[in-house]
Amino acid sequence: MVLVKAKGLIANEAEYVARTPQRQVLRFSADGSPAVGQAYRTHWMSPTLSEKKRERLVEKTSRPPELVVIQPLNKEWKCHRCGQQKGDLLIMETPGPSCLPCAGLDDLMFLASGDALLTRRAKAKSARYAVVVRFSRTRRRYERQGLLVELKALADAEREIADQAR
Ligand SMILES: [Zn+2]
Repeated sequence: MVLVKAKGLIANEAEYVARTPQRQVLRFSADGSPAVGQAYRTHWMSPTLSEKKRERLVEKTSRPPELVVIQPLNKEWKCHRCGQQKGDLLIMETPGPSCLPCAGLDDLMFLASGDALLTRRAKAKSARYAVVVRFSRTRRRYERQGLLVELKALADAEREIADQAR
């Protein structure tokens, strides 16, 4: 650490949060030792980066990760909270899958991918949103199906785009 500092690198301590609705801050050691956590959280930035680039890096590393909601291929899942399967989407939490009503996300509307402008606007206006993915067996990876956004954000974005087209 001392050597790194001697080279004049600048420390940026990022906060890692879980990809779950609770957004709890992730711990890096079993006992939650702050020193261990700090060592992992600290990103070292070269002093040769411009002020602007450094700011962008800080902004990027401190942004919370997007919530990811899954359209499961396996329909046999059970919500770890209610033991049922309310709806056809789930969000993975540490103990297992949770249905969206239990995760407090069932008020969000599904907006299928395809309309880039509407997606961008609705996402920007939505205080809460989640990315919806489905696993592709042929491509062997999760693929984005669309977004879950707040109903009002979607309605406002649609109205705004319609007004501009007039
Ligand atoms: Zn549930």
